Amino acid sequence: MQKMTHRLTTELRRLAFEHHDHCVSCNYKFKEADTSHLGYSQNDKPLYVCDHCSAQLKETAVRHYFMPRPYEVPDPSSKLWRYMDFTKYAALLSSGALYFARADCFEDTFEGAKGLRRNKARWDEHYLQFFREAIKNPPEGHECELSKSEIEEQAQKLLRDLESGGELQRKRTFVSCWHESEHESEAMWRLYSSFIDNAVAIRTSYQSLYTALGRNPSINIGRIEYIDMKRNYAGVNDAFWRKRKSFEHEREVRAIFSDFECQKTGKLTPCDLNVLIEEVFVSPRAPSWFVALVNDINDKYSIKVKVSPSELVEEPFF
Ligand SMILES: [Zn+2]
Repeated sequence: MQKMTHRLTTELRRLAFEHHDHCVSCNYKFKEADTSHLGYSQNDKPLYVCDHCSAQLKETAVRHYFMPRPYEVPDPSSKLWRYMDFTKYAALLSSGALYFARADCFEDTFEGAKGLRRNKARWDEHYLQFFREAIKNPPEGHECELSKSEIEEQAQKLLRDLESGGELQRKRTFVSCWHESEHESEAMWRLYSSFIDNAVAIRTSYQSLYTALGRNPSINIGRIEYIDMKRNYAGVNDAFWRKRKSFEHEREVRAIFSDFECQKTGKLTPCDLNVLIEEVFVSPRAPSWFVALVNDINDKYSIKVKVSPSELVEEPFF
């Protein structure tokens, strides 16, 4: 087997990111714990392949155990919306960057939560047992020489590390939230603007969001899954992709990245706004001059995009 060189170019990381669940050569769908191979062909072309196709690699950068993503990726053309006050829109244009808020600063205190505190004892017992077994049964060729109390002590420490790791992850995770829908939403106008008369909504798509952020393989974009936390837990690796059922109306798609150094409560991430913004809608409560104002500010920042009145102000007939 080839030695791994760990040479991970952006092209190679992007290839593996975009084709995550299948071999780019034979289309084989990876199953959990399969090995995926990242590397380069004879002519230095990046490759992301299965065991069977790994003979095509002249150089192996890394091998991974395949893990399915903890979230669903929407269709490229899925429509995503963001409702905001006009001031936030102006800030978006003037910065040319998308604001990612740090997960521990959200109003929803369950961001990144594994479950309800009252159900924690069951979670702890499950992981304690898991850690005890792992310590008692080290990989082949090793033997566990620890006493019963030493095993218990180590298992307890691993459990504490798991918990503090979870808390820390909230300070390292940055999120941009979107609403997935084919249509404009009356409720979202009210929920996501503090002054609805001056609110705007931008519409993008999964593909445009991904492209506008530079097709960055470090930014994951996917759907939130809403779970019943009275009965279930979010898994260790998917806590930022799970929310309580009470938030289901948000139909959230989020972009997430981790940053281990940033101490701020949010991070501006450069974004090509001409790619991101497919259309701008002004609030159904906005005065008639508001469309002109939004067009004006778009011109100022060279944003070429259609600005439309809300679809909710169409007139009925009876
Ligand atoms: Zn293959």
